[in-house]
Amino acid sequence: MRIWDIAVDAVLNRCPRCHQGHVFENNNPYSFKNGLTMNKRCPHCNLKFEREVGYFYGAMYVSYGLQTALITVLYTLNMFWWKMEPMFLVILIISMVFALFTVTFRWSRIIWISSFTKYDKSVTGGQ
Ligand SMILES: [Zn+2]
Repeated sequence: MRIWDIAVDAVLNRCPRCHQGHVFENNNPYSFKNGLTMNKRCPHCNLKFEREVGYFYGAMYVSYGLQTALITVLYTLNMFWWKMEPMFLVILIISMVFALFTVTFRWSRIIWISSFTKYDKSVTGGQ
């Protein structure tokens, strides 16, 4: 299923065309050295990730959606189970948004690339 493939590619840092090469140089999003550094091309299928200048501006909207989903989940959990004071909830939400920034940054870019790139069996040898 395509949505499942996109989610797995985003979590595992994989190229949407071949599902084998890595989009970001390092699998660890919290690496200070190169955690947010993208490969120019897929090391396996040679897909060019940044198709044109400004290509990843659209990924900001995906990132906005991911952050909004996170906030909605935290708010809902608090409303039904945690029942924290509103100030603590705001502090928790802001902390989580900052703590997960690198993850949502990477996921949003991979999801954005995936929305314009389909899986191609021919580049993987039909695997
Ligand atoms: Zn690839």
